[in-house]
Formats: sequence, structure tokens, C-alpha cells
Amino acid sequence: MTELQLRKQIITIALQMNSLGINRGKSGNVSARWKDGFLVTPSGLPYETTKPADIVFIDAKARARGKRAPSSEWRFHFDIYRAKDEVHAVVHTHSSFATTLACLGMAVPAFHYMVAIAGGNSIRCAPYATFGTQTLSDHALKAMEDRRACLLANHGMISTGTSLAGALALAVEVEALCEQYWRALQVGKPNLLSDDEMILVIEKFKTYNAPAH
Ligand SMILES: [Zn+2]
Repeated sequence: MTELQLRKQIITIALQMNSLGINRGKSGNVSARWKDGFLVTPSGLPYETTKPADIVFIDAKARARGKRAPSSEWRFHFDIYRAKDEVHAVVHTHSSFATTLACLGMAVPAFHYMVAIAGGNSIRCAPYATFGTQTLSDHALKAMEDRRACLLANHGMISTGTSLAGALALAVEVEALCEQYWRALQVGKPNLLSDDEMILVIEKFKTYNAPAH
């Protein structure tokens, strides 16, 4: 894939994030690994008017190159690519149900086997820190240990993937799980699956009908 194709794909995924209803306006951001760094959506520009040249490159030394400022959340994108070799794309959104649980400081436990799609027996919620800070990035990285996604307290969620399509699909899945968990909580106390069962499901995902990630 050429750099131009990847820049176009980032915009397509950002637009899909909004059309799928998991993001509104300009609050989310999208990035993809490129060369020794990554390409990321710019700060404060509606995706509808974002052009490939507006996408910002950030190199391995955290230097931004481009005609616009990178998303204010570029730090956790930077740290995720540095910490996780397998990650090639990152999607960040303030989707409604993930953000609702995050505002309550709630993690998503193993109430449904699909929670394993995020890599473990829960989807953790990182403690609150101001947007754009190194502290937020540090909290997010810790919440994403052995995980492909996490919630961010009083903020939203982060999802990752080996491709842009995979990161978007996981964000959609995490949002659906957060909605289902929230709905179950309205009626009662969901039955949680055991750690052994979740280990089994994680193994099955590796070999059988593995969802995109
Ligand atoms: Zn945000």
C-alpha cells in the first residue's frame, strides 16, 4: 500500500466511524502505522472535509510532519505503536455506551463470551486523566496490557487492530458489548463467565472463525 492509499483509508475509516454511529462530530481519531511512525487524523477538522494531505505523520521521535496539527490524542497512539508491535491501526471514539460505562468508571466483565474479542476476560477502564496528556497515555497503556481495547474513564474508548478495518470492527464490537452490558444491568445482575471459560473462548478465537482484529 502507498502512503497516499493509507491516508485515504484513514479518512474512509474515520467517516465510517461516524456513519456507523460510534462517533459524532470531530471527537474521535484514527491512525495507522507507517514507516518508523504513524499517520493520524488532524486536530479539529471535520472528516467530511479532511483531505489526504491533512493527515499528519508522526515519526519515531514524536516529531509531527504535515500542514496541520495532529489530533490532540496523538500521544496514546504513539505509545501504543511503540509498545505493541502487532498493532497497525488505532481507533479512538466517544461512542455512547462505552463512554457511559467509562463515566461510571466501570470495566466490562465477562458477562458475554465476546468480551474475549478484546483479548481477555474483561475490557478494562483506564483511570481518568486530562485529554492529550502523557498521564492519560500511561493509564491507557496499562489498561491495554494483554488487551486490544480499553475504556477511558470520563472520556471514551480505544480500540486497536492489525489493520484499520480490524480496529474499526473491534470498536463497533466493544460499543455493542457496552450497550448489552448496560442493558443487562438495567434488569438485574448479569451472570459472569468463569476465567476458565474465557480462556477457552480466547483459544477458540485464535483457531476457529476468528473475528477480525
Ligand atoms: Zn477523546
